[in-house]
Amino acid sequence: MVRGLSSKPIVLKLGGSVITNKEKPLTPNLPAIQRLTEEILRANVALIVLVHGGGSFGHPIAEQFRIMEGYKDPLQILGFSKTHQAMTKLNKLIVDSLINHNIPAIAVQPSSCVVTKAGRIKSMQERPLKKMLEMGFVPVLYGDAVLDSEIGFAILSGDQLVSSLAIKLNADRIIIGADVNGLYTADPKTNPSARLIQHITLEELRKLENKIEGSKVIDVTGGMFGKMFELMPAIKHGIRAIIVNAIKPNRVYKALKDEKVVGTIIEKDEIIEQPN
Ligand code: ADP
Repeated sequence: MVRGLSSKPIVLKLGGSVITNKEKPLTPNLPAIQRLTEEILRANVALIVLVHGGGSFGHPIAEQFRIMEGYKDPLQILGFSKTHQAMTKLNKLIVDSLINHNIPAIAVQPSSCVVTKAGRIKSMQERPLKKMLEMGFVPVLYGDAVLDSEIGFAILSGDQLVSSLAIKLNADRIIIGADVNGLYTADPKTNPSARLIQHITLEELRKLENKIEGSKVIDVTGGMFGKMFELMPAIKHGIRAIIVNAIKPNRVYKALKDEKVVGTIIEKDEIIEQPN
């Protein structure tokens, strides 16, 4: 019998910096993958979609062939294949780990169900995903090299995918598993006086994006800036997001259980503090 969607899914993103060793090409962080699988198993949430980043699998090859710049040279075609293939290898490690823990994971290739236009998602086949969730599967997607209607091909980041999926699948919330505790006032890796921001609203995010006066207290760059920017459409939709440190044990577990956890909550409107 086919079960209807009894509740809203959680979209969980596992950062490339968490599941791979970013310094060494094609090197997975197997202990982290194993531990996160166990946390997902223990949390036992009804409906979950996983998205993971590329880390040291996708990025070096994509960069070598300049896939993110679109099609310019026939030599890039093989580069596209190689980038995609590297991502399927990382994806297989994650799906294998989930299946070995009796979690019914299914690999879903974004390059087969998404087309972008100038790098932004233009169309996505969400029906198979909805059906998978209805049937009790755990779809596992990833940042991928995808076909693009304007520039031939592009790199679709896991972060852009997360937001789109959350909207299309009417997600309850988004959990971003990063290699830092959340959004800080500055990059915590380079600025020792950076402070963790526990709550941020859409309005504050907009200021951040446009670098408007008043947002100067937050200096967000690199991967974290991209995450904030990509999360905005989902937040506008009223979907709550939380960024937690997926390197630290139990943070993802607590976020999945909706327990109080160290991290940054991003919500459309001002958060009303709940009494403990
Ligand atoms: P992932 O590969 O896990 O998706 P990224 O490495 O792309 O994540 O992005 C996260 C990184 O963004 C952090 O490790 C941190 O070094 C950097 N960063 C820059 N500015 C900030 C900030 N204000 N707060 C938190 N992290 C930041």
